[in-house]
Amino acid sequence: MPIDFTLTDAQLELQTNARAFAQGVLGGVRDVIAAHDKPQKRFFATKPFFDEVADAGFINALIPEAYGGAGYSNIDLAIAAEELMAVDVSVPTTMLGVGLGLQPLLIHGSHEQKQRFLPAFIEKPADRLACLAFTDVGGAANFDDPNPDAGLQTFAHRDGDDWVINGRKQYNTNGSGWDGKGAYLFSVVCRAEEHRDRRVPASESMAVIMVPGNTPGIEIVGWHDMPGHRAVDSPIIHFNDVRVPAENLLGEPGDGVELKYKTFSWTAGLIGAACVGVMRSAFDYAFEYCRSEKRAGSVPIIEYQNAGYMLVDIKTRIEACRYMAWKACVELDRSGGLSEELPTMTKIFASETCVQVIYDAMRLVGVDSYTSGTPLAGLMQDALCFPVYDGGNMGIRRRRLHQMMQRDGYDPMAAMLGRW
Ligand SMILES: Cc1cc2nc3c(=O)[nH]c(=O)nc-3n(C[C@H](O)[C@H](O)[C@H](O)COP(=O)(O)OP(=O)(O)OC[C@H]3O[C@@H](n4cnc5c(N)ncnc54)[C@H](O)[C@@H]3O)c2cc1C
Repeated sequence: MPIDFTLTDAQLELQTNARAFAQGVLGGVRDVIAAHDKPQKRFFATKPFFDEVADAGFINALIPEAYGGAGYSNIDLAIAAEELMAVDVSVPTTMLGVGLGLQPLLIHGSHEQKQRFLPAFIEKPADRLACLAFTDVGGAANFDDPNPDAGLQTFAHRDGDDWVINGRKQYNTNGSGWDGKGAYLFSVVCRAEEHRDRRVPASESMAVIMVPGNTPGIEIVGWHDMPGHRAVDSPIIHFNDVRVPAENLLGEPGDGVELKYKTFSWTAGLIGAACVGVMRSAFDYAFEYCRSEKRAGSVPIIEYQNAGYMLVDIKTRIEACRYMAWKACVELDRSGGLSEELPTMTKIFASETCVQVIYDAMRLVGVDSYTSGTPLAGLMQDALCFPVYDGGNMGIRRRRLHQMMQRDGYDPMAAMLGRW
């Protein structure tokens, strides 16, 4: 009986501890951020919560043991992420944003590069934020367009022993850092060219360059204000002649396309788990409401067949998403990050199911669900982000899954069999 979703004793303990942490600490985030109308102020106000996240070891967990961290597996991170996200999405997104920012280095960095950049995050995990600077202001959906005039418009050109980066980015989680001036470390996705002619297609030029946040030329010019994920840092960042040593490039120009995809596979399974956390929150509220409310009728709402069936359908979808996310994360661990189809499908399925589930929970609770008196309208705002971020579901369907299915020899059973 090798198929078994039973948690180990250590995973049960992690789950229990993460749940207690989330309820005891993150439960306070909502009231604290509600006092601020500016997005950056809301983000900065979460610093004390993030300090506790770091103290609890969740940043250490993102760094491999070989470099001084606790090196959680993807599946263990998923178990923790579900618990944290069930209480608050903002602070855990900052935490996973650090992981996202470090992922290109972890996947493709040399031993020397890892030794150079990772210890800083062990030393001061609460203060130092990493950021993946991928999304351009002009769009990211066609980042690897083969036409040299199209695609990502952030460029790096060689000048002596340096790369000099120019471009405009946005939505880069953690990009402003806690001081509003820049993250501690950026992984900048750009097109690296020897000369400044901008004629090399993405397949030959796409690259990730590690950029310390204190490098001159990094300018935070504003923040996006979002109706959900209220305290996630979403800055607009200009890179103006940002000069870093040539040895900050990960691999070679051209490696960036696959590296970007592998980076987003890492988050895909975890976002599946995050969606489960948010759905769980909505279910718990709707379930309690249906058991306790009569709404001027004679019996609790749960006694009505339609309400009972809706609760069953909500719960069923949550269970399905959880096991899909677990399987995706296990496959990512087993494959050393190479598994792609299942994590990508998980991100799409769980994020779109999450929106539907919260809508159903709102339908169950009725008009009150649309007020700030219940958590459901806020959860819906958080949920609406899941399908559109992290590559966007339209984009990852097209760029990854559709392309995969067009390849000769596509094996429909590979994901189930754990082949990649
Ligand atoms: C909370 C949050 C956190 C985020 N964190 C990060 C981060 O840490 N780092 C980072 O770099 N980014 C981050 N992002 C940005 C996010 O990942 C991007 O929005 C995403 O990568 C690009 O989405 P998009 O496809 O909508 O892009 P766009 O380029 O804006 O495309 C918009 C839409 O145009 C249509 N479209 C475009 N081209 C095509 C085509 N060829 N075929 C069909 N349709 C097309 C699609 O419908 C697409 O959805 C974050 C965003 C949010 C909201």
